[in-house]
Amino acid sequence: MPRHAGFAGTRRRLLAGVAGLAGGCGVPVAARASLAWLAPSASGAAAATVTALTAPYTAEDLAHAARLRERALGDGLAWQLAESLCTEVGPRPAGSEADARAVAWALERLTRLGFSRVRADPIELRVWQRGPGQARLTAPHARALVMTALGNSPPTPEGGLEGELAYYPDFEALRAERGERARGRIVYIDQKMARTVDGSGYGPAVRARVMGPMEAARRGALALVIRSIGTDRDRVAHTGMMAVDPAQPVVPAAALSVPDAQLIERLHAAGAALRLHLAIGARQAVPARTHNVLAEVPGTDLAREIVLVGAHLDSWDVGQGALDNAAGVAIVVAAAHQILALGRRPRRTVRVVLFGNEENGFDGARHYAERYREEPHQLVGESDFGAGRVWRLRSRVAPEAFSAIEAMAPLLAPLQVALGDNQGSPGPDAAVLMRRNRWSAIELSQDGTDYFDVHHTDNDTLERIDPAALRQNAAAWSVVTWLAAQSAMGFG
Ligand SMILES: [Zn+2]
Repeated sequence: MPRHAGFAGTRRRLLAGVAGLAGGCGVPVAARASLAWLAPSASGAAAATVTALTAPYTAEDLAHAARLRERALGDGLAWQLAESLCTEVGPRPAGSEADARAVAWALERLTRLGFSRVRADPIELRVWQRGPGQARLTAPHARALVMTALGNSPPTPEGGLEGELAYYPDFEALRAERGERARGRIVYIDQKMARTVDGSGYGPAVRARVMGPMEAARRGALALVIRSIGTDRDRVAHTGMMAVDPAQPVVPAAALSVPDAQLIERLHAAGAALRLHLAIGARQAVPARTHNVLAEVPGTDLAREIVLVGAHLDSWDVGQGALDNAAGVAIVVAAAHQILALGRRPRRTVRVVLFGNEENGFDGARHYAERYREEPHQLVGESDFGAGRVWRLRSRVAPEAFSAIEAMAPLLAPLQVALGDNQGSPGPDAAVLMRRNRWSAIELSQDGTDYFDVHHTDNDTLERIDPAALRQNAAAWSVVTWLAAQSAMGFG
C-alpha cells in the first residue's frame, strides 16, 4: 500500500506538492541578465572556442538556442498534442482505463516524433475511485448544492448522512477549536483563496482541503464540507486530494462550488441554523497500475548526464485535464522535439518524463527518484501550472552555477521572461526528485492568474488554453533545456 506509507510521509509529500505549485514565496531579484554572453557571437569560431573555457555556453550554443526559440514560436506541435490528449483521451485519473490510454497515446506520439528510448515504467499503486455524490441544504430550507467529493474521501453510509453545520471561517479557526462544537456535526470550512500571478494563494488555502478532514475527524465531526479551493465564481466545484492515514480517523469530505459557498456564508451571517445532507460514494485503496513514460534526445560526449524536463500525464477525473496538465505535457514534449528537429544533438541527454499519479500520491515521482537515483541528473524541471505565459526564470542550483542560469536570461528576454532568484521550485514531481536526490532544478514561472479558476474542475477543458501562450512556453523550455544540456558546467 504505497500511498499509505505513514502520515508523516504523506504529509511531507502533500505539503511538498503544494509548495511546488505555490512556488512564489521568494522575492524575485531584479532582472540582472547581462548581454555579455551574447557578445562573442559575432567573433567567429576561434573566439567561441576561447569563450567556452570561461563561459557556460559557446556563441554557437547561444545562437542555436535563439534558432530553437524562433522555430518554437512558429510551431503548432504543442497545440496539436494538447488538443489530441484532451480530445482522444480526456480525463485520466491514475490507474484508470483512461490512464492506460494516455500512456499508450504518449508512447505512440513520442515514438512517431522520433524520440529515442521511448518506454513506460510500470508502477503498482492503490487508487481512489469516485462514485456518485450529492449535497443539499435541508434547513433553513431545501436547496440542492453543487459539490464534488475530495479525492481519498471515504464513502458516507448508504443513503448519506445529515447533520447540523458547524461553521468555521477558515482552516485556522478549526485548528484552534478546543470545544465540542464540531462533535456530531458537519464541519464547514469557508476557506477563501487569493488570486495571484504566481499561485501563492494556493498553499495557505489548500490546507483546508488536505488537512481539514483529519482535523474535523479528530474533533468528532460527521463529515467535512469546504468552499472550493479556487478563484472563480462559477457553479462548479473543485476536487483535489485530502490526506488519509490508516492510523488516524478521517471523515467523508466534499467541496462546494463558490456560489453555493457564498449562499451558505450569507445564510450563516443571517443567523440561520443550517443543516446539510451529504452522500458520497467511493472506493478506496483499489489495486491498480500506472506508468511513467520516458523518451530521450540522446546526448553526445556527456550522454550519461541527464537534463530532465517533465510534466504529469495523469489528471483528475473531471473536465479534460487540459490546463492540469495536458498543457505541460504538450509544452515539454514540443520543446524537446524542437531540439530533435533542428538536428544538432546536445552534449548531455535530454530526457522527457511524463509522470504517473501526480494528483493523488506522487507515485510516479517517487518511483522515478528511486529507480534513477544513480544516474547523474544535472537539472530537473517540470511544466505543471497551466498554459499561462512564462514570465520568470528561476533555479535551485549550486551558488557557483547560478552564472550559467544568468547566462540563459538574454535568450529568454525576447519572450518577456525575466531572471529571478536561485530559490526556485520546479513543479511538484520535479520537487520530489530535487528533495530526494538533491538534484538541481530549474523553474519557468507561468502566469497563473486564471489557473485556479478551472483547476480540478469540469471547466478544465481545451478552450482554456491559449495556443500562442503554449508556443511561448515551448520556446522558453526549448532554450533552457538546450543550454542546460549543451553546457559542460555542473549545476549541482
Ligand atoms: Zn498538475
